[in-house]
Amino acid sequence: MRDMGALVLILVIWACLGIVNGQIVNEIMKEKGYTKNYFWLGFFGGKGAVRHAYGRMTALMTPEEREALKKKKEEKKREMEAHKQELIDEGGWKCPCGKVNAVYVSSCACGMSKREVKYGQAAVEQKEE
Ligand SMILES: [Zn+2]
Repeated sequence: MRDMGALVLILVIWACLGIVNGQIVNEIMKEKGYTKNYFWLGFFGGKGAVRHAYGRMTALMTPEEREALKKKKEEKKREMEAHKQELIDEGGWKCPCGKVNAVYVSSCACGMSKREVKYGQAAVEQKEE
């Protein structure tokens, strides 16, 4: 029954997306101070619910709050950048995919190896001669 397999796959994908959306909506509402669990709203409401939650969150904000949120986001970004720089300063390496890996990480999550990044693919092949 090939149709069954496809149906199960669709259900699994749908459930995964639902869980992600549910968590996003729940996080947004929690951040805004709503204590109710909005997970299921996100789960069944999908992208529309995410947009709705986000819109509701920012619509209820005062300009000061909005400014504070913007600052918080910028600060978080700066922190991330600082953390990346720290890793590089300690001997870490930056992968072409954009991920910065610590010195003890020998291959990136994307599959690139440290040696490949540092010396290039050609150098890796040459070394094997
Ligand atoms: Zn990578």
